[in-house]
Amino acid sequence: MIIDLHNHSYYSDGILSPTEVVRLAKQQNCDIFSLTDHDTVDGLAEAKAEANKLGMQFVPGVEVSAMWSNMTIHILGLGVDADNEVLQAGLKQHQDFRQLRAEKIARGLGGAGVVGAMEKTQAIAKTGMITRTHFAQMLIQEGVCKDMRSVFKRFLTGKKPGGVGGKWAQFDEVISWIHAAGGKAVLAHPLRYRMTNTKVKRLLNHLSDSGLDGVEVVTGSSSSDEVTLMSQWARELDLLASSGSDYHGWPNQRVRIGHLHDMPNVNETVWRDW
Ligand code: AMP
Ligand code: MN
Ligand code: MN
Ligand code: MN
Repeated sequence: MIIDLHNHSYYSDGILSPTEVVRLAKQQNCDIFSLTDHDTVDGLAEAKAEANKLGMQFVPGVEVSAMWSNMTIHILGLGVDADNEVLQAGLKQHQDFRQLRAEKIARGLGGAGVVGAMEKTQAIAKTGMITRTHFAQMLIQEGVCKDMRSVFKRFLTGKKPGGVGGKWAQFDEVISWIHAAGGKAVLAHPLRYRMTNTKVKRLLNHLSDSGLDGVEVVTGSSSSDEVTLMSQWARELDLLASSGSDYHGWPNQRVRIGHLHDMPNVNETVWRDW
């Protein structure tokens, strides 16, 4: 079975349309596939229609930004009802914050000499949502930076010119939105935060106590050692194990849909009932 439960389209910071992402997943022989755009469910209807056409099992998803201990983390909602009003109201708050944040980022970049940052970035974003990735693409296009990594380092984090702190909802609130919509709450890419492993373990413990259902044991950029460690923690904390590439479709991204390590021995997977 090929299962990929973490993917992006141009409804957030991916390159492809939902239809194109689903077609690619089919080409890569995915059996179960989820679209999980940042803080929006707007691409799900299109993705579902295409998946139905191709006879592929589709899981409606979303990747929600959240605060934990003053840091931004990402919680996947898998199997959510996109029409749920609690979820929609929560995501609307995040979309409004993204708009305000984009204006602040643009002002910061203006102060650093980047002219017309907002207009240029809006022209890159295909849908209404502006993510930091769109600012990064703009700065690369303008020749200000050579790649994503250097943009985030020089401009979009901390006290850098385009650095704006997250003001997302708290993790427990985000978990409650996902549960209200009938979804499973899964911590995304646990080893991609700027935290020591000890702190990640504390994060997982704390989130489990607040109703977290699962953790991404396998991601598109996991090493074998990372997969082993996360599978151990998933067993210890009795969390459902998930698997997802975090595919965005950027030209230089090495991650590919459906190309994932096998799931090691775990208690239960998040897709056990699907
Ligand atoms: P946002 O949700 O708008 O704050 O943007 C976060 C997105 O930016 C993440 O989902 C990644 O896709 C991307 N990102 C964050 N940090 C980096 C980084 N250091 N290098 C490349 N992409 C990054
Ligand atoms: Mn992203
Ligand atoms: Mn993420
Ligand atoms: Mn993601």
